Amino acid sequence: MSKQKQRREALIYHAKPQPGKIKVVPTKPYATQRDLALAYSPGVAEPCLEIKKEKENVYRYTAKGNLVAIISNGTAVLGLGDIGPEASKPVMEGKGLLFKIFADIDGIDIELDTKDVDKFVETVKIIAPTFGGINLEDIKAPEAFEIERRLKEELDIPVMHDDQHGTAIISAAALLNALKIAKKKIEKVNIVISGAGAAAVSCTKLYKAFGAKAENIVMLDSKGVIRSDAENISPAKLEFATDRKIDTLEEAMKNADVFIGLSIADIVSPKMLKSMAKDPIVFAMANPNPEIDYDLALKTRNDIIMATGRSDHPNQVNNVLGFPFIFRGALDVRATKINEEMKMAAVRALARLTEENVPEQVNIAYGKTRLAFGREYIIPKPFDPRLIAEVPPAVAKAAMDSGVARMPIEDWDKYREELLQ
Ligand code: NAP
Ligand code: MG
Repeated sequence: MSKQKQRREALIYHAKPQPGKIKVVPTKPYATQRDLALAYSPGVAEPCLEIKKEKENVYRYTAKGNLVAIISNGTAVLGLGDIGPEASKPVMEGKGLLFKIFADIDGIDIELDTKDVDKFVETVKIIAPTFGGINLEDIKAPEAFEIERRLKEELDIPVMHDDQHGTAIISAAALLNALKIAKKKIEKVNIVISGAGAAAVSCTKLYKAFGAKAENIVMLDSKGVIRSDAENISPAKLEFATDRKIDTLEEAMKNADVFIGLSIADIVSPKMLKSMAKDPIVFAMANPNPEIDYDLALKTRNDIIMATGRSDHPNQVNNVLGFPFIFRGALDVRATKINEEMKMAAVRALARLTEENVPEQVNIAYGKTRLAFGREYIIPKPFDPRLIAEVPPAVAKAAMDSGVARMPIEDWDKYREELLQ
């Protein structure tokens, strides 16, 4: 399809038959006078009083428990940068659509007209009573780190900045599987991380939680290898600085087992790829164009295990594999947080699911004859119907085990059945 045609199609999709991608619909009968007297005055006073008596009753009598706010200020939208709150609205509505179709969560987009961290935090805190959870989205680093940290501390509902943790969770699942295929141990592999931004930092933290060793990691930013002996190094980057006396990507790639790209297009050359260890794991996730072109990489190394951010190649690291199911699990136990244990449980569930036989309907949906665990299938496909039955229970269980669940699940079989409905 030509660029021009694609553009027109996208604009018509958003404009017709009515503008936007989501709407609000009532969930109770409203045909008679009696219905209305229940829905609004005088009937509505009864749940009000029950909630006034006991705040937790808000989950019983209102939509709060299934309502997630998708909140952005439009400062780091897709690859488009700081385009402002209004221009970010289509993306946030899109996220609402994905929450709905993948996990039956009502996601309401909220665009805030502020770049001020204090004002942002204050505003979210003020509107938080409405929601069961908060998905922070497309907020520029480093502000995003502080906004998330403070909201997590100060609110008693789950808060997650998806741009950081979504990518970390999905790529960690892919990494565990890739290591399995390469028959390598996470504790032993040399890892090169290209990029030191929001995504790279949270990915590296999660890989470390799974056993990756700080001394085996080399991180690079736009100026090259981040060295511990460098002057004027920011505290955020110091955590990932290496003691090795090297400066360039080319040097870092020699004998590396894993390359994680969360930086910019076309910075990895075939020569660098050739210098990597056997069965190199290459996740080139810069969007829209990866750190090395997929076809070029495969042509250069036939023992490669490769993933990208793109849907037109195998192994797409796609956040939609994460946030709908993670929030589903968190909401269903009324978790007060989305903590490390819950994220790690989601990683393990995704990794495990990939190893199981793929249902025929998934093969059909993706036009494949037979998807099977291997170099070209290290992460599930988003339209896999098993995700909703596997990931939320794993997240919910981790919330319970780590003591952040306010409403534990007792009957797991029944819960799985409900998820599949
Ligand atoms: P970000 O916060 O702006 O960080 C970008 C990082 O890339 C910065 O640390 C920057 O260095 C570094 N960088 C720039 N040029 C570089 C170079 N030549 N070599 C090494 N590092 C370089 O952005 P982000 O949100 O982390 O996203 C980074 C990339 O990952 C984007 O392309 C994004 O599309 C992609 N991404 C993909 C997925 C996915 O596939 N699911 C998810 C998230 C992000 P300085 O610190 O020196 O400026
Ligand atoms: Mg985003």
